[in-house]
Amino acid sequence: MRKFIQTAALVGVLLGSADAFAAIKVVTSTQDLESIVTAIGGDKVTVESLAKGYQDPHFVEAKPSFIFKLHSADLLVAVGRELEIGWLPALITQSRNSKIQPGNRGYLDASLTARILDVPAGPITRAMGDVHPQGNPHYWLDPANGRRVAQAVQERLAQLSPGDAAYFAQRYAEFDRRLAEGEKRWKAAMAPYKGLKVVTYHRSWPNFAEAFGLDVIGYVEPKPGIPPSPAHTLGLEQEMKRQNVKIVLVEPYFDSKTPNAIGRDTGAKVLVMPPSVGGVKEITDYFKLFDYNINLLVSAIKATGAR
Ligand SMILES: [Zn+2]
Repeated sequence: MRKFIQTAALVGVLLGSADAFAAIKVVTSTQDLESIVTAIGGDKVTVESLAKGYQDPHFVEAKPSFIFKLHSADLLVAVGRELEIGWLPALITQSRNSKIQPGNRGYLDASLTARILDVPAGPITRAMGDVHPQGNPHYWLDPANGRRVAQAVQERLAQLSPGDAAYFAQRYAEFDRRLAEGEKRWKAAMAPYKGLKVVTYHRSWPNFAEAFGLDVIGYVEPKPGIPPSPAHTLGLEQEMKRQNVKIVLVEPYFDSKTPNAIGRDTGAKVLVMPPSVGGVKEITDYFKLFDYNINLLVSAIKATGAR
């Protein structure tokens, strides 16, 4: 009898825990996607990001724990456009989880409904550099794309858990409302500087530039994924002086040596601008990503008198 009671209690615990873990297990490749899935999924999901926001998302060191996480995932949300091609596809194969294989319901390529820039018109050659053959994968830096991703996440979560569809729809509506408020705030802050010329290290910012009215006139990298060279840097500095460019944006994971030299040579201010949630500890969600970066940019514009 005692044994039975113990067994019954154990079954109760197991059932209870099974219920507690009924949440959809979501793994995302980046913290930006993690933030959006959390916003839409609420307490009906558990979410973990593989890459951290302070890492270069093109080159993430795969850890054995990633395979473990992917093995038990119900849904994998990836940025797509080959952003993660160097590390994620092998992990998906190694996970031995049929649910999250591309083409299945447990795999969501978040780029499919996003507005993608820099899509190459002609054939791709090695001479064009390493990355972005399917268009620019840094599309989440336009809040309008964050909204599109959130909508795709909402639809997919509703497919995976139809009983919670209304819950996800309500959370999406709230996300959309907050984002619209944010867009108003961010665009108003940037409006006086429309057409401001900047240089960026990598081509991470075309969607951001389009959304907030920046004109990116050059890159510290000669080509995507190719490190700076003296000849390219010299040409860039001449162009910056000619066009009076006062701001250089550098992602936190790049070597600041060349950007700092460019800053010294041209008088431009070098801003370390995180392109992702988690890039610095203050950026804890998708809204704060823009709050932080717009603040940083406006302060720098005011400090340099750049127009
Ligand atoms: Zn890139």
